[in-house]
Amino acid sequence: MHTSVAIIGAGFAGIGAAIRLRDRGIDDFAIFERDDRVGGTWRDNTYPGAACDIPSRLYSYSFAPNPEWSHTYSRSAEILDYIRSMVDDSGIGPHIRFGHTVSGLEYSADEGLWTITFDEGHEQVRARAVVLASGPLANASFPDIPGIEDYQGHKIHSARWDHDYDFTGKKVAVVGTGASAVQIVPELVKQAASVKVFQRTPGWVLPRADVRTGEATKRLYRSVPGAQRLARSLWFWGHETVALGVVWNTPLTRVVEAVSKFHLRSQVADPWLRRQLTPDFAAGCKRLLMTSDYYPALQRPNCTLVTWPIARIAERGIRTVEGVEHQFDCIVFATGFDVSKNGTPIPITGLDGRDLAAEWGRGAFAYRSVAVSGYPNLFFTFGPNSGPGHSSALVYMEAQIDYITDAITQLLDHGWKALDVRAEAQERYNRDIQRRLTSTTWNSGCQSWYLTEDGFNATMYPGFATQYVGQLRRVELRDYRILVHQGARTPAAAAIQ
Ligand SMILES: Cc1cc2nc3c(=O)[nH]c(=O)nc-3n(C[C@H](O)[C@H](O)[C@H](O)COP(=O)(O)OP(=O)(O)OC[C@H]3O[C@@H](n4cnc5c(N)ncnc54)[C@H](O)[C@@H]3O)c2cc1C
Repeated sequence: MHTSVAIIGAGFAGIGAAIRLRDRGIDDFAIFERDDRVGGTWRDNTYPGAACDIPSRLYSYSFAPNPEWSHTYSRSAEILDYIRSMVDDSGIGPHIRFGHTVSGLEYSADEGLWTITFDEGHEQVRARAVVLASGPLANASFPDIPGIEDYQGHKIHSARWDHDYDFTGKKVAVVGTGASAVQIVPELVKQAASVKVFQRTPGWVLPRADVRTGEATKRLYRSVPGAQRLARSLWFWGHETVALGVVWNTPLTRVVEAVSKFHLRSQVADPWLRRQLTPDFAAGCKRLLMTSDYYPALQRPNCTLVTWPIARIAERGIRTVEGVEHQFDCIVFATGFDVSKNGTPIPITGLDGRDLAAEWGRGAFAYRSVAVSGYPNLFFTFGPNSGPGHSSALVYMEAQIDYITDAITQLLDHGWKALDVRAEAQERYNRDIQRRLTSTTWNSGCQSWYLTEDGFNATMYPGFATQYVGQLRRVELRDYRILVHQGARTPAAAAIQ
């Protein structure tokens, strides 16, 4: 099979990329998705309490506004419905090949085509361009705790929830206190007999003002689209302001910490518990936690916070380092994802047999987060250094897919063989990114999934969303080598801006 564009993954990014390609009149594309449904993160994360922690008005695409959001922060099922409705409304459904797990990508320089292989043994696909939209947080990971395989009770990962398991009357452990855990615990304490929350490090918690959207507001957004655009804009600029205290370690970071400490004091009366819940790193260094329900849940009579480090998991429960064994019917692992910061999610072979996993062995890097020199016509969504610490991933993703569709449109319209980003442009960009990262909160000394074991930050973008979007506003062809088919004329330098 041959296609002009292969998109890997049918989450927000893959679906968005397909819609924008279609908007530009490109119809020859296929989306390869390993699952049997679209939705990515929001198909997989269905744990009780799952919701976005950036307001839905901003955590959605500007080209697919949704006046129907029921709350400020929508629940998982509603976000999944939104993704499905984008697929239905745009008619891209027939382009999706479910049950296709991409196992490798290999570039042929002679033809300027990528060969895509699949785990299931499907026929190989050849594509002029590839959009790798396989998601940064798509692979649930259990922690590396000794004895985890010995546990005989029920084991659930937050990203693979077992909806058949009845928590009523059960003794439950929750391992982890990150963004998913703070949403799960308030729901579990309502049902389980007891919940013990195992905390390694407490995070900075900010209150989440989640309100139901009234009918009148929805009517307004339906009938006056500009009103919804304005609301989105206000959220956008509000978050941009917050960047001053969250992205960079500045006096405003102390203001964010003060707000968080005030929230803690107002919700937790016990000074000892407050101390256990107070972080010892700069706010923003790890993902901020947005919740008004977590602290009250921790103080329910059936809930206990355990701060002793876990020594091992035993047959019936969890043993902490001071020698106590806590026994459980079920352990919930809210322990995050396997994030490829060094290496690639799938093997990728570029020009002259170059192996991207090896090149990224000490930390991933790219040009403006979307392309890598030596891997022509391959584009990344949520690529290296594209993570927002203060704003919506979808704002960043929309900029990426618009840039990528622009590059692909130029490639196909001109009949070029390939666009390969110049190594010098990529190096210049990354030198600047790494220099700017030194003054950010993420590089201020805490341990987080943003950094490799060596402390290299291959994940986050050190700036405002406005800057990130700005750098992707247009494809600067002078930063690319344009490869043409044999006999065709290379575009004159003068034509390349
Ligand atoms: C619980 C949770 C809550 C979040 N909340 C927010 C939030 O509030 N605000 C925010 O800004 N960000 C949030 N994020 C970040 C979130 O990951 C992104 O916002 C977004 O959903 C990612 O979309 P994506 O399309 O890049 O990846 P995904 O949604 O992960 O989609 C990737 C798709 O690719 C498929 N895939 C993966 N590998 C292969 C392969 N080899 N072959 C074929 N298919 C493959 C997967 O099955 C999946 O369907 C959250 C993340 C999680 C996990």
